[in-house]
Amino acid sequence: MSDMTDRKTKSVEEYEAPLPWHLGVYDAHCHPTDTVASLEKIATMKTKALTIMATRDQDQSLVAQFANALGQAKPEDPGRFLIPAFGWHPWFSHQIWDDRGTTGSPTAEGPHGKESHYRSVLTPVPDEADFLSSLPEPRPLSALLQDIRAHLEHYQTALIGEVGLDRAFRIPGTELLDEEYEKDPASTPGGREGRRLSRYRVDMNHQRSILLAQLNLAGELQRPVSVHGVAAHGTVYETLASTWRGHERSVVSRRQKKDARPNHPLSGEDEEFPSSKVSVFAVTRSTPYPPRICLHSYSGTAGTLKQYLHPSVPVDFYFSFSSLVNFSSRSDKAVEVVKSVPDDKILVESDLHAAGDAMDELIEKIVRTVCRIKGWSLDHGVTQLGANWKHFIFG
Ligand SMILES: [Zn+2]
Repeated sequence: MSDMTDRKTKSVEEYEAPLPWHLGVYDAHCHPTDTVASLEKIATMKTKALTIMATRDQDQSLVAQFANALGQAKPEDPGRFLIPAFGWHPWFSHQIWDDRGTTGSPTAEGPHGKESHYRSVLTPVPDEADFLSSLPEPRPLSALLQDIRAHLEHYQTALIGEVGLDRAFRIPGTELLDEEYEKDPASTPGGREGRRLSRYRVDMNHQRSILLAQLNLAGELQRPVSVHGVAAHGTVYETLASTWRGHERSVVSRRQKKDARPNHPLSGEDEEFPSSKVSVFAVTRSTPYPPRICLHSYSGTAGTLKQYLHPSVPVDFYFSFSSLVNFSSRSDKAVEVVKSVPDDKILVESDLHAAGDAMDELIEKIVRTVCRIKGWSLDHGVTQLGANWKHFIFG
């Protein structure tokens, strides 16, 4: 890793130099299972590891299949690998029936019937029979949590994702955007599939319950989480913070810290590697909050960052940026945010729906953008981003 003097002497030529892929470049959030055929392209990609997200019913087992095909990562193994993530995205959260503390089945007639489920979680309350009947039978939350748990127990480095909150999205309706649209046989079902968006959104309280259940599971199993948050920054923070309420770290002054040191189990380590505190206890305890959270394609303000980074917050937060979402057009806000994220908390991602060259290109683009904004040389930046990704995944 370069030192400060090295970082200051970088030149324009250096930014135009080839990306030092050999130092290890990692994609913190992507969706290659949306295009199953792209699996075979991973072996020839320049990006060393992909963190692949599940989102819905159709892709949980595909993520497992991809992980089986390429092998799981080990912190000490520098080979090419995949990190699988399992979980339900807010765009599909209406398909989940929160069966905790209730009896009966959402498929039975009566108060838990399919139509009454969708009437209770969609807003405005839907009444079109066509639309209601086009929706899948809701799945009980307890069963989904059991599936996620089983995957996480099987894959020791797996995380929970993609989960989150989204106030802006509307679920697809029954009409096609373009009557000529032909379903792409290569793409995994369950996505938008050329449909026009309906006017229906998923109730925020329902989204919150689904998110909280998955965050609690991550805390129980001490796994990191990849979180999606759109048009709901305050609610995302409130929801995440509710998991660590009553578990805040006591904020002590440097003097108090020094005085306490002889009895401190981490003495000598904590000042240099503050984020490693969390992982030291990772295997021995469960908490209602996850040890580490990545806010993916982070679109909050520089000001909101401070809430997450407050020393009393017991979760180690990371902020990930993509060319697609954060830098799709010139964005001064994203530049400000990237500048404000501490150097050891920033990650990069493609968020792309297929593995291959396009994914490498997006990753290269965002690595270069981050290096330029941060004033890092490419070598320094790639090394720093790689170290950050390893901390996020492995603790
Ligand atoms: Zn995503």
